[in-house]
Amino acid sequence: MLSCEEVDGFLYDFHEGNLSSIEKLKFKLHLSMCSECRQYVKGYKNTIKTYQSGFIKADQIDEVPEDLMQAILKSREPK
Ligand SMILES: [Zn+2]
Repeated sequence: MLSCEEVDGFLYDFHEGNLSSIEKLKFKLHLSMCSECRQYVKGYKNTIKTYQSGFIKADQIDEVPEDLMQAILKSREPK
């Protein structure tokens, strides 16, 4: 699980498309569980939007399917 600090660090690369699919997933997973980071990312997006309208597909952030999330969580948690 990413920490909020790591999410912060991922944010730029996420928007630049530099994250691997696993990293992207972890990023989204954290956002799905952390309202603080969701707000933070929202603010970040809005900031970018003012410069590059149409660049961000903002809706994608909430599209991690529940069962995929569970699978990732399970695989990452030591027994
Ligand atoms: Zn967070």
